[in-house]
Amino acid sequence: MSLIGTEVTVLGAGVAGLAVARALALHGADVTVLEQAEAIREVGAGLQISPNGAAVLRALGLGPALDAASMRAEAVQLHDGRSGQLVMRLDLARIRPGQGYHLMHRADLIELLAEGARAAGVQIRLLQKIETVDLSGPAPRIVTAQGAEYTPRLLVGADGLHSLVRPALNGPAEPFFTNQVAWRAVIPATPGEPVLAEVHMGEGRHLVSYPLRGGTQRNIVAVEERRRWVQEGWTLRDDPVDLRLAFASFNGRVRNWLEQVPDVWLWGLFRHPVAPVWYRGNACILGDAAHPTLPFLAQGANMALEDAWVLADCLATYGIQAGLASYEERRAPRCRRVVQAATGNARAYHLRSPLREVAHLGLRLGSRLLPSLPLNRFDWLYGHDVTRPDLSRP
Ligand SMILES: Cc1cc2nc3c(=O)[nH]c(=O)nc-3n(C[C@H](O)[C@H](O)[C@H](O)COP(=O)(O)OP(=O)(O)OC[C@H]3O[C@@H](n4cnc5c(N)ncnc54)[C@H](O)[C@@H]3O)c2cc1C
Repeated sequence: MSLIGTEVTVLGAGVAGLAVARALALHGADVTVLEQAEAIREVGAGLQISPNGAAVLRALGLGPALDAASMRAEAVQLHDGRSGQLVMRLDLARIRPGQGYHLMHRADLIELLAEGARAAGVQIRLLQKIETVDLSGPAPRIVTAQGAEYTPRLLVGADGLHSLVRPALNGPAEPFFTNQVAWRAVIPATPGEPVLAEVHMGEGRHLVSYPLRGGTQRNIVAVEERRRWVQEGWTLRDDPVDLRLAFASFNGRVRNWLEQVPDVWLWGLFRHPVAPVWYRGNACILGDAAHPTLPFLAQGANMALEDAWVLADCLATYGIQAGLASYEERRAPRCRRVVQAATGNARAYHLRSPLREVAHLGLRLGSRLLPSLPLNRFDWLYGHDVTRPDLSRP
């Protein structure tokens, strides 16, 4: 079945929206993306594109752009936060080297996806803040803040964490505060350090850091457990002093990074249920709109890319109605598993004494005796390739 000429409106020019727009346009659809921002510009900090996400970018013909804009990670290293001692090393260079484990700035990923979408014929319309999503009639109806109305043949809701399409399909849902906040910052760096994702773990807190942009910058995400509520979003600034104080007991390498933080953003971490309903009639959701996930497995952008590929493939194979059903069936179980695994990781990173010493010793011994064991645990995640015909179709 072909999508040639099928009019699709995608709401949101984030990772999910731009990726699905290119994927659909490559199948012949006539795609318009509506985005509230006034420009596709530098927003966000670092993202990790694991082999399962890289497989989608390569299948979309964006492999060379991915390689040019990212750094390939050699390993993930877990360290004791206080002493800096190495607890475990996962050798990432060994997993699916054809795809690679990539570290990149979110703005660079957005830019390469936007270029890819435009090159495939997608129209990206900025300053289009949607205020109403009405799915009660025979066709989806959306209205912008300026009063412009659209009734697309197919509406794809890629409008992220605070999606309007998700509640139109599911009714309102109350996320709950996890009693954790995350700071994110980018600091200048000197190229030449090994390309590692480092996790420094302490009681009730951890910090993840890796190089970006040829090693000229370093990304920092620092998580702390706390009772005080903080809003969920990407735009709240905080004082870098608060971040330094929260990690004052950590090793010198971490403290040195934090001394260099010029600006920092704070975001409250909330648990959201995976949306029970992903489509109805001619409207559907993907990415964070369907399954916002905590950042502890670094899979938000990767799941958005996988969704984008599978949605376009299902629509092109089965047409709109059967395609949407097949899309939800293929994606929902995997996304639920990822959301659950990410939630579990926070508990493991934040262990308190004496459990923490026992766990760290176990990890050290385990990875020395059987070095491939820790990586094998992630086969289900990184080894999954939605672009392989045997996996992408039932
Ligand atoms: C500004 C920003 C910064 C981020 N920074 C990071 C980061 O540093 N590290 C990290 O790991 N993840 C970051 N993320 C999240 C990460 O990009 C997503 O979790 C992941 O890529 C899934 O993408 P998505 O496309 O589903 O959602 P998003 O990337 O959130 O994209 C949703 C898009 O929809 C648009 N939109 C939402 N509502 C409307 C509306 N009513 N009308 C029109 N447009 C609308 C938004 O402006 C946005 O462009 C950031 C997200 C945003 C929006």
